[in-house]
Amino acid sequence: MTAQFSSVDQAVAQLVRPEIQALHAYHVPPSAKMVKLDAMENPYDWPPLLRQAWLDKLAELSLNRYPDPGATELHNALHQHLGLAAETGLLFGNGSDELIQLLIMAVNRPGAKVMSIAPTFVMYDMIARFLGADYCSVALNDDFELDVDAFVEAMAQQQPALVFIAYPNNPTGNALSRQDLIRIIEAAPGLVVVDEAYHAFAEDSFILDTVQYPHLLVMRTFSKVGLAGLRLGYLVGPKAWIEQVDKLRLPYNINTMTQASALVALSHWSILAEQAQQICDDRIQLSQALAALPGIKVYATAANFIVVRLNEAGPSAPQVFEGLKAAGILIKNLSPQGGVLTNCLRITIGSPTENNQLIEALRLLLKPV
Ligand SMILES: *Cc1c(COP(=O)(O)O)cnc(C)c1O
Repeated sequence: MTAQFSSVDQAVAQLVRPEIQALHAYHVPPSAKMVKLDAMENPYDWPPLLRQAWLDKLAELSLNRYPDPGATELHNALHQHLGLAAETGLLFGNGSDELIQLLIMAVNRPGAKVMSIAPTFVMYDMIARFLGADYCSVALNDDFELDVDAFVEAMAQQQPALVFIAYPNNPTGNALSRQDLIRIIEAAPGLVVVDEAYHAFAEDSFILDTVQYPHLLVMRTFSKVGLAGLRLGYLVGPKAWIEQVDKLRLPYNINTMTQASALVALSHWSILAEQAQQICDDRIQLSQALAALPGIKVYATAANFIVVRLNEAGPSAPQVFEGLKAAGILIKNLSPQGGVLTNCLRITIGSPTENNQLIEALRLLLKPV
């Protein structure tokens, strides 16, 4: 031991920022051998031909060299794939989580506030705290709807430097109307980032609107469309914004294998698009099958997951969550988050076989007594 510190615990307690000590680490439950319907992953793997094209591409790579720092080939391919205007820029992140971090860093003057709705994607709040920014939110009602007047009023009061709107929203699955989101964008005193993580399953996008508004950026990810293992997200918007955020990016944040793999995915995009369409088709069936079970309310969704609320008369969300886990099915129990999520569960849409397994297991757990 030294004179300054009597133990590791004491050194940590004294040196680590108190707000970091108070955080709970992001928890990922074990899922080996489970039917995995908890994390909005695409249930479908790549077909053999695509897998072979990918392996051939990987075999050409030189891992002794650093990656292309600007991911130029991927950048150009995606810019074209999205049909972006020449004046629209593009920036890659190691998952969109990294982009959330860079965006907050970019605007984080002393006292800066980050604002969103509640509940929403937890990383906005967590990363704001990591970076010492204030975070505030406006609560959705029990039907997961936003009082847009209240949100506009809260922006006027809080003057957030940055507003994140997940569109569709996680964990509720619904999306604001275009009209409401436009109202928020037009009233915002700072930067607005529309997080389109679930774009592949939604009808609308704000990418084209980034040409109209000088303070609007759109963020997307490859994760939910079938490439969660890659860790690749991207930010779209006016080049002047992209250039500033790019300065904060650590060199080589997108590794060589991710760049090459994403290029393969882009050149076979119709396969991923068909998988997303299949998930959208199955969303209708799964919603109907869930709604036919006793004691369960099913919420509308524009994403690849469905939120349900259990009736107070029957088994609780934690009980059903544990019951499913015992049956080998992992979903997300939202109930511990409290508030409007009390007694709610979030179910990622799986393959038809997995969805049927889920329904059969739920039928047993929710059997009317
Ligand atoms: C899953 C998710 C992300 C994270 O995406 P990654 O690219 O995997 O980091 C971002 N935003 C929302 C709303 C999400 O649900």
